[in-house]
Amino acid sequence: MGPASDVMTRVCQQRDSTGTVEGMVPIDEARRLVRERCAVLPAISVHVDESVGCVLAADARADEDVPPFANTAVDGYAVRAGDTTGADDVPVSLAVVGEVAAGAPGDVRVGPGEAVRIMTGAPIPSGADAIVMVEDTTFTGDRSTFDGSQHVQVRRSVPEGAAVRAAGDDVRRGDLVFEAGTPITPAVAGVLASINVRQPRVIRRPRVAVLSTGDELIDDGSPLLPGQIRESNKVMLLGLVSATGCIAVDFGVVRDDEAALEQTLRLAATECDAIVTSGGVSMGDYDVVKAVLSRIASMEWMQIAIKPAKPFAFGSLARRDGSEVPVFGLPGNPVSSLVSYELLARPALRKMAGFGPELQDRPRVSAITDVDLVRQADGKVHFQRVLTTRAADGRIHVRPVGAQGSHQLAASALASGLAVVPDGGGIVAGGEVDVVLFGD
Ligand code: AMP
Ligand code: MG
Repeated sequence: MGPASDVMTRVCQQRDSTGTVEGMVPIDEARRLVRERCAVLPAISVHVDESVGCVLAADARADEDVPPFANTAVDGYAVRAGDTTGADDVPVSLAVVGEVAAGAPGDVRVGPGEAVRIMTGAPIPSGADAIVMVEDTTFTGDRSTFDGSQHVQVRRSVPEGAAVRAAGDDVRRGDLVFEAGTPITPAVAGVLASINVRQPRVIRRPRVAVLSTGDELIDDGSPLLPGQIRESNKVMLLGLVSATGCIAVDFGVVRDDEAALEQTLRLAATECDAIVTSGGVSMGDYDVVKAVLSRIASMEWMQIAIKPAKPFAFGSLARRDGSEVPVFGLPGNPVSSLVSYELLARPALRKMAGFGPELQDRPRVSAITDVDLVRQADGKVHFQRVLTTRAADGRIHVRPVGAQGSHQLAASALASGLAVVPDGGGIVAGGEVDVVLFGD
């Protein structure tokens, strides 16, 4: 990561059109800066069982056909299709000469007038070219052996190829199945296993340190003394980091103590690929995160032209070996922390984890607001927490969750998105508004 001061100088010189607030950074500039300065992590090999949530770092090609042999899609009888002609009018009786279960080699042969009982997934016996579903048959004779007295009555004619799954009809040997950059969903991992990619090359999942700061924070369940509050950001941010596809590492609650904070940050930098802090980045006297990071890291202290989550810090902390660890300094107010993480930290962490540009951001869609989205002009874009529904008109509709204060996490917790309300007098009911949807 290089110094960003040029970018920031330029950004800070921009003034919003109302001229009411000077020096605020437009959110898009901040997002661009942060993303630019976070690099994709190196590729490693992992076992396919551990790969869900990672991004493929190399193309995945098939060395084998899937399925590897022709097999039956149903339980029933392997037959020669021609032997079933007319069975819809007059049932046909065939001699049952054997049975093939899934996993068996299928080395029985079906001759004219014969059938072999067969289970889903079993190989098609030689001589057979179609399968009659068990539901269209009646078996007579001793089930435990095949001594020539077993017969099956077939009540339906089948064309050649009925219920036969051809070798390679899902994946052909040599196919490019997934390109580098593909996120490994559970289904993608299933396909990788099916083509015997046991150790896919993936982008290493970022290890992200999460820590909260503040003398007032209590996280051990003890009774609150005057002035104390329950700590809430850390569990939220650890969860958000995990949901981003990273490994969240808990670095605890650090008191407003410069030495303790410096020690924790340095340890986090040696053990992790990125650091997310909450609290202590605004203008207060005890904003020790600001004091410490200003001294030991290369940081940009921003006032972003958004509400909530105006204060935000971003920069890098050097390790002993000279490599640098991105640091995201989120504001302490819980809703601000959430919004700041979503808009600024998450896209950059997604980039580090190997997600392509189109997969770094949450989906943003145009919606209709069912109530007035009230705000005053203040030079900022407001991100109002909203509930979204899909209405009969096929559009997504939004309405704000209850209270919109930056400390009121309970009100925001069930929000399904952020309505992007541009600077100005708000949006009246029935109007269009962009919404950032939580959930990929
Ligand atoms: P700060 O950003 O440190 O000035 O904190 C802003 C507000 O957020 C204050 O009311 C803090 O008490 C509160 N706050 C800071 N960190 C947390 C946290 N981890 N959990 C809950 N509230 C917090
Ligand atoms: Mg604080």
